[in-house]
Amino acid sequence: MSDYFFAHRTWSELHDLLNQSKPCALILPVGSTEAHGPHLPLSTDVIIAEEVAARAARTLESRGESALTLPPLAYSVTDFSEGFAGSVSIRAETATALARDILLSLIKQGFMRIAIANAHLEPAHIATLRAACEAIKAETGVEIAFPDVTRRRWAQMLTEEFQSGACHAGQYESSLVLSARPELAREEIRLTLEPKLISLSQAIRAGARSFIEIGGDQAYFGNPAAATAEEGDRVFDILAEMIVTAIDELKRFSN
Ligand SMILES: [Zn+2]
Repeated sequence: MSDYFFAHRTWSELHDLLNQSKPCALILPVGSTEAHGPHLPLSTDVIIAEEVAARAARTLESRGESALTLPPLAYSVTDFSEGFAGSVSIRAETATALARDILLSLIKQGFMRIAIANAHLEPAHIATLRAACEAIKAETGVEIAFPDVTRRRWAQMLTEEFQSGACHAGQYESSLVLSARPELAREEIRLTLEPKLISLSQAIRAGARSFIEIGGDQAYFGNPAAATAEEGDRVFDILAEMIVTAIDELKRFSN
C-alpha cells in the first residue's frame, strides 16, 4: 500500500505489522464538526488534523520507520460555536470516553506508540484529550504523544496570529485549508472578510463561553483575507514535525 491510512489495511496486514520487529506508530487525527466562519467548511479541524497526521507519517516512513494514520475523530466538545448551524458538540465525558476507548483498544492489540494530532483548540476539548491520556497512563502505563499546540512550548513555533490567540478560522486556519483542500474554501467570501483581531485565548481566560459573546458573530477571528496556501504549507510542516518530535520523545522514555 502506498498510502498511510490504517483503515485501508486488512486485518491480516495489520497482524503482520504487529509481528514485525520495528514498532508501527499510529497517529490519531482529532478535529471537530464546527462553524469556521462563512468561508471555511465545518470539517476544517478534521482536514487540518488529517493533513498533519499524513505528513508526520510520511516523515517517519522516510526515516525507515513504520507509521499509519487512524480514522479521525470528527466530533468533540465545541460549546463555543453554539448558535451556529451545523456545529455538533458532544459532552466532555463522551469525548473523553471515546478517545480513551479507542486508545485502549489499540494498546491491547500491541500498538504502543500512538500520537494525537489535534486541531480543535477549545480548552474544554483539549481537557478531554488530556483526561483520556491520563486514564490510559493510569490503566496501562503507556504514554500517548500529545503535543498540545496551545502550550507555550509548541505555540511559540507557530505564526504571529496563532500566538495572538485570534486562532479560529482566521489567517492561520484559512491558510491550512488553502494548502490542504483549496476547493473547500469559499474564496469570494474569504477575500471580503474584515479582520477581527480579538484574542480568543484572552477572552476565554476572562470567562467567555461562546464566539458570539466575544464578538465573533460570523464564527471567525483573525484575518482570513490574509491567508495563503504557502503559509499553510509551511505551518503544516511545523505541525507535522511536532508530532514526529513527540513520538521521538516517547521512544526515549520507553527504550
Ligand atoms: Zn478550527
